[in-house]
Amino acid sequence: MEIAFWGVRGSIPAPGPATVRYGGNTSCVSLRPAGGGLIVLDCGTGARNLGMSLMEGAFGQGRGEASILLSHAHWDHIQGFPFFVPLYYPGNKFHIYGGAQSSAMLEGILEGQMAPQYFPVQTLKNMGAGIDIAAIAEGKPIVVSGCAVRACTNPHGRSGALAFRIEQGGRSVVYASDAGYGTGGPPAASVALYRGADVLIHDSTYTPEDRQRYADRGFSSVDDAVAAAIAGGVKRLVLFHYDQDYSDAEVDALCARGRRLLDERGGRDIELQGAAEGATLEV
Ligand SMILES: [Zn+2]
Repeated sequence: MEIAFWGVRGSIPAPGPATVRYGGNTSCVSLRPAGGGLIVLDCGTGARNLGMSLMEGAFGQGRGEASILLSHAHWDHIQGFPFFVPLYYPGNKFHIYGGAQSSAMLEGILEGQMAPQYFPVQTLKNMGAGIDIAAIAEGKPIVVSGCAVRACTNPHGRSGALAFRIEQGGRSVVYASDAGYGTGGPPAASVALYRGADVLIHDSTYTPEDRQRYADRGFSSVDDAVAAAIAGGVKRLVLFHYDQDYSDAEVDALCARGRRLLDERGGRDIELQGAAEGATLEV
């Protein structure tokens, strides 16, 4: 599988000279399973660049097919959706999976942000591509683009956010953005989802001080991400979803702190990197 990062920022895009290395776009990650297919994890503003890159291939000829997994519907996870160009090409097919209580509810949320009061061009139904939408039942594995996918809800604000585990050919990737654990660390169901993953892409919005200051926002600190990686016994931790106000130097400091904590707390064998827009990772 190949992972590519298109947007790694939380809450709101943060372009500018202080964020050029890690990037300013909000959450979007693509995963290409071995043997073809495409899974898109969240549709923050990073989805715009992903969409443009896809137009060079089958999606530009109306022959593309992909699945989109949405962790939840906060702005930084769906705002790139109306700007994802392959959705406007008849013949392309998209299967959208998310965590609302029903498919109709999820469709209503996506439709809502494209209402004429917010968006000038099209409604969800008239974009052009074939779109089907399904609500994911937690804990029930489904097959997406030839991969086994399981989901579990992490605590996050009032609605929670889905974390996804994607497995193929003995390899596993977990995407866990937006996770606000309590003082006890990640719940047992989350640890079970992370267990032994080759790659854990984990919310690392804050320093521990900012995590405390903004506890009601439901995000993780780098310390929480490290605790989740150690509890799950993962092979590699990728920090993700940085606060919009953090500069590249501040994200460097988050990564350095994460490395130090892993070494101190029994996670010396766990590799660590900070997700950066444009970076790829082979699993
Ligand atoms: Zn959120």
